[in-house]
Amino acid sequence: MEFSQKIIDIAKKAETDLAEVFSQIDDIAYKNTAKVLDSFRKHRISEAMLYGSTGYGYGDAGRDALDLVYADVFGAEAAFVRHNIVNGTQAIAIGLYGLLRPGDVMLSITGRPYDTLSDVIGDKTKNGDGSLYDFGVTYDDVALKDGRPDYDTIASKIEKWGDKLKVVYIQRSKGYETRPTFSSKEIGEMISFVKARTGAYVAVDNCYGEFCDTEEPTAYGADLIMGSLIKNPGGGLAESGGYIAGTKRAVELASYRLTTVGIGCEAGATVGQLRNMFKGFFFAPHVVAQAVKTAVFAAYMYESLGFEVFPSWREARHDIVQTVKCGTPEKLVAFCRGIQAASPIDSFVAPEPWAMPGYEDEVIMAAGAFTSGSSIELSADGPLRAPYTAYFQGGLTYESGKYAVMMSADEMIKA
Ligand SMILES: *Cc1c(COP(=O)(O)O)cnc(C)c1O
Repeated sequence: MEFSQKIIDIAKKAETDLAEVFSQIDDIAYKNTAKVLDSFRKHRISEAMLYGSTGYGYGDAGRDALDLVYADVFGAEAAFVRHNIVNGTQAIAIGLYGLLRPGDVMLSITGRPYDTLSDVIGDKTKNGDGSLYDFGVTYDDVALKDGRPDYDTIASKIEKWGDKLKVVYIQRSKGYETRPTFSSKEIGEMISFVKARTGAYVAVDNCYGEFCDTEEPTAYGADLIMGSLIKNPGGGLAESGGYIAGTKRAVELASYRLTTVGIGCEAGATVGQLRNMFKGFFFAPHVVAQAVKTAVFAAYMYESLGFEVFPSWREARHDIVQTVKCGTPEKLVAFCRGIQAASPIDSFVAPEPWAMPGYEDEVIMAAGAFTSGSSIELSADGPLRAPYTAYFQGGLTYESGKYAVMMSADEMIKA
């Protein structure tokens, strides 16, 4: 790990200036760790629960206990966590297919959902694959106005759809957009507004948000939150998986899509995955804090070098994502290559843009992770479209994240 003197000097100044921000991040990690420990004690998590089951997985006490722990910590009535949920997209799809029926309406109030959801939602051009559209579900959305919910339009759409409105959808993290990520509290305000006007379920894409605040949107009344275990809540240890948490009936309906009607959460073998899922959840508040510190440090470094970053290091954070506007495809590629070069695994490869399934533009990804595709581990990616914004997230340890940011900054200066 060798860096130019310029980078070393900025990094040194960064840590002095960031002391207060870092202590606030630690404070959140302490609060969330207390919740996790309290819940492990309450449910008497034991060594025997870590082994898991095979076959049908009936009576898997560890699986059932982990579901209760997630529900507790996320302030929800119920939850399920499964290693065989492929990713965040599938967790969200399970939730949506669980709640929506033919003739129902889904209304997204934070603009168009994350890229990978577009095939799930579907439209007439993609007819036939079994999208929500194919099943007779109508999709509608309300664009954000200056990065905030457009409450007037939301109110009129709720009125327009009336009893047909079954799911109001909120995306917490910015995804591939340049807009603020919503805090759980802000999402709580949206939920109150919606619930005062309709009996529809509120479902929240919670990807990248877990443990960034002291509460999750479920603590503010969300009926479902959904996310990926190779992001925040897996703590870098879960090897795959996803979760859904929320109100009792909504989680039950989702569970019938996870397995099938009549079975729900009562079966499903955990085949050796429970230990890492428990251990990962135990680590998650700390690991998320490491990732948030890495993001803040990156914001400071790139801001100092004259790049437009979002959010700034001074702003409050509600997810682990940091964006850096690279401006050109070459610089976006250089940024990702710098991150890759400082990764523990596959440091010697040079990432190339490719047409990743589910994404509309070509995407470049830097991922030198122990778990393939894990983005709680240090990773950077961005769609090859103007203004060539790099989305940077993760870092299992602040120390390694800091080095990677310094290395990418050096690469960018050279580019
Ligand atoms: C990561 C992410 C998803 C799901 O993506 P997967 O790669 O399927 O886990 C959905 N929404 C947002 C905002 C995300 O960041």
